[in-house]
Amino acid sequence: MERLTIHAAQPYEVLIGEHALGEVNKLIQDLQPKVSSVLLLIDEKVYQLHQQTVEQNLPHDALYVLPQGEKAKTFSVYEKAMGAALEAGLDRHSLIIACGGGAAGDLAGFTAATYMRGIRYIQVPTTILAHDSAVGGKTAINHPFGKNMTGAFHQPSAVVYDSLFLSTLPLREIRSGFAEVIKHALIADPEFLKELIDHVKDLKEIDESFLLYALKKGIQIKGEIVRQDEREQNVRAYLNFGHTYGHAVEAWSGFGDKLHGESVMIGMVYALLLSERKTSLDFNTDEFIGWVKSLSYEIHIDAPFGELLALMKKDKKNLNQMIRFVLLKTVGQPVLTKVEPSELEYIHHSLKRKGE
Ligand code: NAD
Ligand code: ZN
Repeated sequence: MERLTIHAAQPYEVLIGEHALGEVNKLIQDLQPKVSSVLLLIDEKVYQLHQQTVEQNLPHDALYVLPQGEKAKTFSVYEKAMGAALEAGLDRHSLIIACGGGAAGDLAGFTAATYMRGIRYIQVPTTILAHDSAVGGKTAINHPFGKNMTGAFHQPSAVVYDSLFLSTLPLREIRSGFAEVIKHALIADPEFLKELIDHVKDLKEIDESFLLYALKKGIQIKGEIVRQDEREQNVRAYLNFGHTYGHAVEAWSGFGDKLHGESVMIGMVYALLLSERKTSLDFNTDEFIGWVKSLSYEIHIDAPFGELLALMKKDKKNLNQMIRFVLLKTVGQPVLTKVEPSELEYIHHSLKRKGE
């Protein structure tokens, strides 16, 4: 197990690797001011699969089991989680433990951010994607009109990432989460990208120690960006690489047909093609596409451009109605750029051809 520190305004530790869960008890005991009581909010599927481990390692006075995955991020589940906190009598010195993927983490984090105007919480991520979502303090639930539209910035007191959970993760969720690892490499570290391309030939057979190394790198990259810009005033927007077009694809597919990371991969290929045109990016995008296709990422898109454009216009990065994209000048050097709809349409058609 290894420890990293995230240098947010209030720094916190990320414990990552085998047996990290064994540290939770001590970690909670060491928190100052002393923790008065603990509510565990846990994804239903994770609880089913790992009940014994969870009961042994995550101390709690009360437990509320959240509906599986994205179904947790609703106003009604939020209200129930708040109810569980009130019934358990949590006070300002209490702690919430968030155990599950990004969805459980977002819901539990938002509950912690708003219970009595904010109490502490610990993230215990159980998916690959959650190496990203558990770090950085963005919490949110969805509204029927838009995903993540109700939320708060609220940093966790610690993140405990134990690899034992990953053994039960379906391959499709591994693929989805790994897209965000690749994103971290693309926006920050050409060497790391090369290592990923050299080592990862098949996501079914990814070597556990390499996976942990890659997750740790991803967390370090995210942590460094969060240190510079906790509240997304500037460089944090770079973490949105691949997400403008990706979110549009994900929303068009009705959130479910395509998973988040699967859509982000399509969005990253799109952003690479757009970068080649707008920033003279010197990168072999075709080779990259070949690699990700060999990992069974689908680059194919059915969505008509007009519908994706309408969705991209709702992106939180836009200013004065102009669509803004994170592009790459080179691997490791992102830049936020305004883009005209005509250019977006041109790249949409290039991507369609590449995806066939
Ligand atoms: P998820 O939380 O929906 O989990 C995916 C599925 O895997 C669910 O069905 C869940 O029950 C199951 N699962 C979780 N852990 C498992 C395990 N160890 N074994 C077997 N099954 C397991 O999905 P996700 O991809 O982890 O997260 C996606 C969410 O994260 C989205 O809501 C997205 O908006 C959010 N997100 C937040 C941030 C952030 O900064 N806060 C960043 C990226 C994504
Ligand atoms: Zn993402």
